Amino acid sequence: MDRFDYIDGKLFAEDVPVSRIAAEVSTPVYIYSKATFLDHLNKVQAAYSELDTTICYSIKACSNINILKFLAHAGSGFDIVSGGELYRAQQAGADMSKIVYAGVGKTDKEILEALDAGIGYFNIESEEELENIIKLAKESGKKTKAALRVNPDVDPKTHTYTTTGKKESKFGVDIERARRVFTQYGKDENVDLCAIHVHLGSAGKTVDPYVEALEKTLELIDQLRDDGFRVEAVDLGGGYGADYGTSSAPSAAKYAQAIVPLLKGKDLKLILEPGASIAANAAIMLTKVLYLKKGGEKKFVIVDAGMNDLIRPLLYDAYHFIWPAEIEEKFMPGRRSKELEIDGTEVVDIVGPICEGSDFFAQGRSLAPVKRGDLIAVFSAGAYGYTMSSNYNSRPMLPEVLVDGDKFTVIRKRQNYENLVELEK
Ligand SMILES: *Cc1c(COP(=O)(O)O)cnc(C)c1O
Repeated sequence: MDRFDYIDGKLFAEDVPVSRIAAEVSTPVYIYSKATFLDHLNKVQAAYSELDTTICYSIKACSNINILKFLAHAGSGFDIVSGGELYRAQQAGADMSKIVYAGVGKTDKEILEALDAGIGYFNIESEEELENIIKLAKESGKKTKAALRVNPDVDPKTHTYTTTGKKESKFGVDIERARRVFTQYGKDENVDLCAIHVHLGSAGKTVDPYVEALEKTLELIDQLRDDGFRVEAVDLGGGYGADYGTSSAPSAAKYAQAIVPLLKGKDLKLILEPGASIAANAAIMLTKVLYLKKGGEKKFVIVDAGMNDLIRPLLYDAYHFIWPAEIEEKFMPGRRSKELEIDGTEVVDIVGPICEGSDFFAQGRSLAPVKRGDLIAVFSAGAYGYTMSSNYNSRPMLPEVLVDGDKFTVIRKRQNYENLVELEK
């Protein structure tokens, strides 16, 4: 699952005790494991190796350019959703032909930048957007490929906010409308509409929605080919389950077992856009206990990180396994799961310092006993952790540290107070 393990009661990131990072960089801090990132990427690459597959890691999950660099080096392409993410991919030295660009609101500026960069595919979200890309490509004398994002109307049975492939979502076009879009725009000189994109949403826990969506998509592709259109690729998006310890999310191999046979012999390239399943378990957020406090029947553990640093528990009701970074042998967590039962633990709310009732990481959670100054690890914080953080309450954003074997590097410095106000002067 990852390379964050306890040895003699001390939590390590690969071969580095996290307490050493806290001593040098202070807390709170995001700590990434390079080996975990690469292991997850390799597993996806291996699972789909029978097909002509391009993995386009979804940058929004975790976007530090130092991480993108080694992922690009390991063969990954990238799924981007903004001009800023395109810039990051360029800074990381990514292969532009392995970039896919989704998003319902691409501006003219962003489209021109992507045309200039020579990205692989624009993932088209609406007829009007496609018309605009065609117009801008003609005006600037550029050519590009495009994939039409279709809504297979499949429910991935995940949180409403992360469900994107149902009919009533703002993304893509209805699958019934797709043939009309090809009829109208499918033979353009500048924009080669030659692929289909689907993205069901995030945090899927079963394989079935993908199979259902792919079957519907293949039916559409057969029709399009009968209509005389060339379709060279299918992009199955992201949303593959990551193991947060709440359920057994299917492994990359499990997804591939169901998906690969459907695509064999179809003369289709496959594109995948995993984000969370690559990044989630590749980081912890390390925070320090500031105070313990009682409120009525409740016990609060107040830590130095807040919801501005990790908003998933509040935004998606997400579960993160949380455990002290130094523990006695009897509190060794074993498998990190919601059902953990160890004698001597206390039921607490783990909360941050922000002036909002919603500023919590866990409520009613069993935790090994902690005291002021102890380090606490919030696990599986690699996806939508740092990238969703903010300066709310004028709190400087956290540093990011990358561990590689027995070495660690600060790959993003902690913001200081001057950073908070420099653009206001
Ligand atoms: C966010 C997103 C992804 C990645 O989703 P994960 O749940 O992180 O795997 C992939 N493709 C598109 C179009 C996205 O918007």
